[in-house]
Amino acid sequence: MHIVVLIKQVPDTQEVKIDPEKNTIVRAGVESIVNPFDMNATELALQLREQYGGKVTVITMGPPQAAMALKETFSMGVDRVILLQDRGFAASDTLATSYVLAQGIKRLEADGEKVDLVICGKQAVDGDTAQTGPGVACRLGFDQVTYVTQVDKIDFNAKTVVARRRLAKGVQVVQAQLPALLTVEKDINEPRYATLRGIIAAERAKVDEWCAAEIKADTEQIGFKGSPTWVKRIFTPPPREGGPKFDGSDAVKKALDVVFDNQHFKEAVFGEEGVCKR
Ligand SMILES: Cc1cc2nc3c(=O)[nH]c(=O)nc-3n(C[C@H](O)[C@H](O)[C@H](O)COP(=O)(O)OP(=O)(O)OC[C@H]3O[C@@H](n4cnc5c(N)ncnc54)[C@H](O)[C@@H]3O)c2cc1C
Repeated sequence: MHIVVLIKQVPDTQEVKIDPEKNTIVRAGVESIVNPFDMNATELALQLREQYGGKVTVITMGPPQAAMALKETFSMGVDRVILLQDRGFAASDTLATSYVLAQGIKRLEADGEKVDLVICGKQAVDGDTAQTGPGVACRLGFDQVTYVTQVDKIDFNAKTVVARRRLAKGVQVVQAQLPALLTVEKDINEPRYATLRGIIAAERAKVDEWCAAEIKADTEQIGFKGSPTWVKRIFTPPPREGGPKFDGSDAVKKALDVVFDNQHFKEAVFGEEGVCKR
C-alpha cells in the first residue's frame, strides 16, 4: 500500500498575528512546527504501514524552510519526503494549494508510484479552513472521508477502507472506495517520538524538490492568478464574555425575560412585522 501524507508547516504560536495591510499571516520571528493534525496524519500512515505493509510518502507545498517539517516526519520513520517549491506557488489560496498538491500526487503516479490512500490533517491551525484535503480529493476524483477518528479496516481485494468519522451528534461509519483521502482528528492517535536513529537519518535524508514545471502545473491555476479568494479582513475574535447569571427563586423567570427581550429571538418568532410565525 502506498500512503501519501500531506503536511503543512505552521507558526508555533497560539496567537496567529495578521498583517493588517496584506491580510496575510505574519511568519517572521515565529518558530515553525508541523501542523499538529498532520502529525496525527503521519502517525496513522505509519500505523497502517505497520499493519498492511507498503510505504509512506510525505508531501508539503511551501518555502525552502518547509524542508525542516518534512525532515521531522522522516525522523518518525516515513520512507520519502517531497517539497513542492516554486516562487509561482506564493499567494496560493486553498483552491490553488489543492491544485498544486493534486498535481504533485499525479506526478508520483506518473512515475509509477500508484497511490492508495492520502491522509491530511482535519485543518491547519493557522489558515483553519479545512478546505485543502477535500479540494485535493475532488481534483483527484478520490472518495473522501473527513473528521476521521478511527480506521477500522482496509480490504485490498474489495479496494475499500472503512473509517469512523465524527459528527456533531455521534459517529458515522463510512465505507469508501480506494484510492481515498482521509482527514483526521487530533484524538485519532498519539504521534510517536522520533528515535535517535531516526533523527540522524533525517539529518542525512534527501528531500526531493519539485517545481511547478516538474508537476506540470498550469501557471494560470497557481499563486495569485489561480486564487480567486478575496480576503476582506482576518482577525482574532475577542474572547467570549460570560452572559448574565441568575439565581434565587425567580431565576427562571428572569432568564426567560432576557430571552424574550432579545431582538434576534423576537425577529425569529414574530418576524419583522411583529406577527407570530407559528
Ligand atoms: C488570497 C490568499 C493568499 C494567500 N497567500 C499565501 C501566501 O502567500 N503564503 C502562504 O503560506 N499562505 C497563503 N495563503 C494561505 C493558504 O491559502 C493556506 O495556507 C493554504 O491554502 C491551506 O489552507 P489552510 O491553511 O486553511 O489549511 P487547511 O485546509 O485547514 O488544511 C487542512 C490540511 O490540508 C493539508 N495542507 C494544507 N496546506 C498544505 C500545504 N501547503 N502543503 C501540504 N498539505 C497542506 C494538511 O494536511 C492540513 O492539515 C493565502 C490565502 C489566501 C486566501
